[in-house]
Amino acid sequence: MKVQTIMADLERKHPGESEYLQAVREVLESIEEVYNLHPEFEKAKIVERMVEPDRIFTFRVTWVDDRGDIQTNIGYRIQFNSAIGPYKGGIRFHKAVNPSMLKFLGFEQTFKNALTTLPMGGAKGGSDFDPVGKSDAEIMRFCQAFMWELWQNIGPDTDVPAGDVGVGGREIGYMYGMYKKLAREYNTGVLTGKGMNWGGSLIRPEATGFGALYFVEHMLAKAGKSIKDATVAISGFGNVAWGAATKATELGAKVIAISGPDGVVYNPNGMTQEKLDYMLILRASNQNVVAPFAEKFPDATFIPGKKAWSIKCDIALPCAFQNELNGDDAAELLANGTWCAAEVSNMGCTPEAIAAFQSAGILFAPGKAVNAGGVATSGLEMTQNAMHISWSAAEVDSKLHYIMESIHAACVKYGTQENGYINYVKGANIAGFMKVAQAMLEQGIV
Ligand code: GLU
Repeated sequence: MKVQTIMADLERKHPGESEYLQAVREVLESIEEVYNLHPEFEKAKIVERMVEPDRIFTFRVTWVDDRGDIQTNIGYRIQFNSAIGPYKGGIRFHKAVNPSMLKFLGFEQTFKNALTTLPMGGAKGGSDFDPVGKSDAEIMRFCQAFMWELWQNIGPDTDVPAGDVGVGGREIGYMYGMYKKLAREYNTGVLTGKGMNWGGSLIRPEATGFGALYFVEHMLAKAGKSIKDATVAISGFGNVAWGAATKATELGAKVIAISGPDGVVYNPNGMTQEKLDYMLILRASNQNVVAPFAEKFPDATFIPGKKAWSIKCDIALPCAFQNELNGDDAAELLANGTWCAAEVSNMGCTPEAIAAFQSAGILFAPGKAVNAGGVATSGLEMTQNAMHISWSAAEVDSKLHYIMESIHAACVKYGTQENGYINYVKGANIAGFMKVAQAMLEQGIV
């Protein structure tokens, strides 16, 4: 395999799909060496097949807003790869959603799901619907209209969507209600992230953030460091940021920043339970602003227009959106003494930022390893649904712990360089890739 040749071909076929091309390039560059040791992969054209989604559904979603006006959005579901299990991955509602964004996410999801040790293929879906400023009734009508189109393409053994940016427990509830009405069966395993009284799993809401901190703990332990008393800057204030802030605080770290599109909140005294609870209220308000946090808690200061990375911190945790931490941000963090960065959002750092962290020799780990606890716990929800039982929070949490430890170990196994530096990007990509590639090889040319 020659990365340049494959990338040139993809750039020609998919012009302008920048996020998708970025995600593919990162994976191909890190697996190239290992791949070329396996002529059987080359012969079966594994890479050429793996970079294209199995199929993409695109559909119109029409709904009526509170003023009685008719609104039309575009809906998508990208079924990327099913070599190791049914398609699995979240749904994103955000005004910038387009095929490139969902293809990058579906591609990443394929490797992430492989890393979880659970049998799940990769998928992603979503819509350019913008939840900001929408009423609860509008969100319900949109979710219902979206599911009206999607329901025939999903199922517990076919494709299992879940939440992502703009889609949380409330949206999953509205989509599940509509699915049940259309399918006329109580198929709990068709969606994950469900409510606790109707097939949801304990710990699922916390899982992405908790899992990320378990991963960070392992990464720090391996480097002889501890999270206790470390200062942590977090971007975002949604579900993932909340889970990460909660666990970081519980582990003795001080969360000194959270942020939104409007700016950053500097929170020098760290989080309290009241502050953590307020993050959930802010997210549910649909306003997408973080400034009210500093109005409610006077020991915090809102700095408009600034990112979380402008705050001096030991550990940086991007928890919001792709490419939210760029080369300049990385330089600022490094100048301020940051010694660990872990992507909790998918592809949260640009390639320039990753290169800056790695060449400075600080700890860095990619989203597909760090945030895999979310989808892993979705996998545990699917297992409970299939068995018609529910596990205790302690049981789910201990399984999540075990999974994050395994992912960390896989990254160390495949990512340790000769000089001893652990390249977690390489480790995660190779470990995920090997599993999917082997399965595709064994299943023949399909
Ligand atoms: N959207 C999450 C992710 O990026 C969770 C997906 C899921 O639970 O299926 O992994």
